[in-house]
Amino acid sequence: MVSKLNNQEIKKTESLEIILDKLRKVVAAKKLKTSKQREDILTIIYNSKVHLSSEGIAVVMKNNNKHCSVSSIYRILQFLETYGFVTSIDVDKSGKKYEIASKEHHYHIICLSCGNIVEFIDNDIKNKQLEITKSLQFQLISDNLRLFVLCDKCRKKQKGLQTI
Ligand SMILES: [Zn+2]
Ligand SMILES: [Zn+2]
Repeated sequence: MVSKLNNQEIKKTESLEIILDKLRKVVAAKKLKTSKQREDILTIIYNSKVHLSSEGIAVVMKNNNKHCSVSSIYRILQFLETYGFVTSIDVDKSGKKYEIASKEHHYHIICLSCGNIVEFIDNDIKNKQLEITKSLQFQLISDNLRLFVLCDKCRKKQKGLQTI
């Protein structure tokens, strides 16, 4: 059974306070300067109901009267991803979108036309993956399932396009 979920319905597995605390520990262990921007960006991603691109993060920062250059945002996102605070999804040629790593395991459906992302959880898929890997004597470590689609809105716009 597929439970189609809105972005905000995928449960987060840790509170923002715990995640920020972990970030501060990593920063201290690496002997880096503490940066309010790093914490701001992590907070924005945590609170966002959608997957954000670096440009999207720049817009939110600006709306909150927080200045951060796009190149700093790139650098911070790289840091946050390297240390497992956020994960990225390659959407299309428009680039990556980010979400908080501490979320229940889920899959993504991505519209190739508008880049909209829908998340879902499906235990049948999970069980099938375990069954396949086990039968081939592998231990499943992780998976990353993305379904590329044309959403309803974009399909209506592109009437006449061949579908499978
Ligand atoms: Zn679309
Ligand atoms: Zn997601």
